[in-house]
Amino acid sequence: MKRVYLTSAALFLLGACQTVPSPHSPTQVLEKATSPALCANDIAEIRDDFLTARVSGCDINSTTAVQISIRPEKTTDPQGKPINNSAWYGFRVDPIQSGTLDVTLQYFNGKHRYHPKISYDGTNWEFLDERKIDKIAEDKTQISLDLDGRPFFISAQEIFTPKGHDNWTDKLAQKSFVTKSEIGRSREDRPIYMLEIETEPTKKKPYVMWVGRQHPPELTGALALIPFSEKVFDESKLSKEFLDNFNILIVPMINPDGVVHGNWRFNMGGMDLNRDWGPFTQPETRAVLGALERFKSGEKNIAFFLDFHSTWRNLLYTQADDEPTTPPMFARDWLKAVDDRLDDEIYPFTREARHNSGKPISKNYMYDTFGISAITYEVGDATPRSAIKLSAKVFAEEMMRLLLEHYEDKP
Ligand SMILES: [Zn+2]
Repeated sequence: MKRVYLTSAALFLLGACQTVPSPHSPTQVLEKATSPALCANDIAEIRDDFLTARVSGCDINSTTAVQISIRPEKTTDPQGKPINNSAWYGFRVDPIQSGTLDVTLQYFNGKHRYHPKISYDGTNWEFLDERKIDKIAEDKTQISLDLDGRPFFISAQEIFTPKGHDNWTDKLAQKSFVTKSEIGRSREDRPIYMLEIETEPTKKKPYVMWVGRQHPPELTGALALIPFSEKVFDESKLSKEFLDNFNILIVPMINPDGVVHGNWRFNMGGMDLNRDWGPFTQPETRAVLGALERFKSGEKNIAFFLDFHSTWRNLLYTQADDEPTTPPMFARDWLKAVDDRLDDEIYPFTREARHNSGKPISKNYMYDTFGISAITYEVGDATPRSAIKLSAKVFAEEMMRLLLEHYEDKP
């Protein structure tokens, strides 16, 4: 029997409210665009001149209908395997007159995956009404958009740019015990930042580390990383005790170029960054490798690692129980503690305990190199945003409790 964790107010929010403020983006009211449109019919203009946009072609079907082509940045990975179906799209609509615009999303090398989101200001997002979406075929979806004069964005998920991440890290870096540093630059020379949380620099403490946004469209992973992080250093009693005993490294945005370009999967080198932990051929993964040097040299210890992602449903990929970790059985005990607190109706999740596949992914690399529990934290694409936030805090609290227990009597 599970204890219901959520308050009735939270349940109300989950049931009634689908408005999703994109975290820490500046609020802006969209002004009428002046740049040339990508295409236009009698009632609306379509544009893709903003960060994260993705439109591969735009054709006028009629005075009230357009067809937008959506293609990936590359059709295969370097091994020739078809690109993962994370069919990201994003465009802007500027109405010319009132009416209904029918937009057909035609996918190439992929299928419709993301429920369209709409925003009139780039900050507050809603899931587009189900009744406005018609899935004609796996690779073709039609959406009907009501035009009332206001310009708006349509996007596969909420727009959360590198700048949005930077605003968040800048705010956190105002705390005296948080340091923000640039650990490297992407292929297109965008900074990759790390937060280091260290309350007593002279005291030797083990580190925990988490990273995110290797895969550009995996926004719900970012929506978990933020409250997870904030819970750990909210300076509550538990947080203070945890920070008395552990230091933290956070790299929240590993693939800024991919995010800016609205990529489905890769960095600008055409690589899946989460298949590069081992070879480390890309500047983005090499930046993270540099941050790991302190652990590889034995100068510092690492106790736990998490990598935030998104997929069809909420799940955590862990080591199998017969793969020894330090602390022992951490994944099993952590997820059990969280499961006991979270209502299945609110945030159902599964543990997928998998043996090391030998693939050069972060989880395998961190386990092989340091013998720690290294977990991929996957959040469902359509999981209600308030549930992502609430559950991330529970995951954070139980991680802190369990790590404290395991390390309590050790030097
Ligand atoms: Zn991923």
